[in-house]
Amino acid sequence: MKRRPENCPLCTTAAACARHDHPGLIADMGESYAVLAETQGCPGWCVLVLKAHVEHLAELPLERQLGVWRDAARLAAAQRTVLNGRGASDGPVRINYACLGNVEPHVHIHLVPRHGDDPDPTGIPMSWPADRQRGQLSDTQRAELVVRLRLAMGA
Ligand SMILES: [Zn+2]
Repeated sequence: MKRRPENCPLCTTAAACARHDHPGLIADMGESYAVLAETQGCPGWCVLVLKAHVEHLAELPLERQLGVWRDAARLAAAQRTVLNGRGASDGPVRINYACLGNVEPHVHIHLVPRHGDDPDPTGIPMSWPADRQRGQLSDTQRAELVVRLRLAMGA
C-alpha cells in the first residue's frame, strides 16, 4: 500500500529540516537529512531521512543509492568521533545500520550506536519496548549531542 507524501511523517520531518526548523537536525547531506532520532535508547541514535518521498531504495538510480550510503558513512564517522569510549566500551562504538521501511515507507536509514553498556547487546533496538527505545536523555543532552555531531561533521 502506497502512502501519499502529505500523510507521511518522514516527509513532514524532511520539510521541517529543509526549513531548518527541526530540533534534531544535524546536517543537510547530499541525498538526505541527518537527524538525531526521537529514540535515544542507544544514545546517539540517528536517522538519515531521504529528502524526497521514495518508498524503496532500489527505485533510485544507482548513483543516488550510493549517495545515500555515502551520507551514512559520513554520519557514522561523526558518531564514532563523538561517541567512542562511552559506557563500558573497550573499543570503538559499533554502528548498526538499518534500512527497513516496514513502518514508515519513506527511505530512511537508522544508524544505531551500540555501546558497552547496551542493555540488550544482541537485540534489535527497533523491537525494544517503547520506553527502552526512547531512553533517558534529557532535551538538553539531546541538544548537546546534535551540536557535537554537527561539529564532527563539519556542518
Ligand atoms: Zn515521505
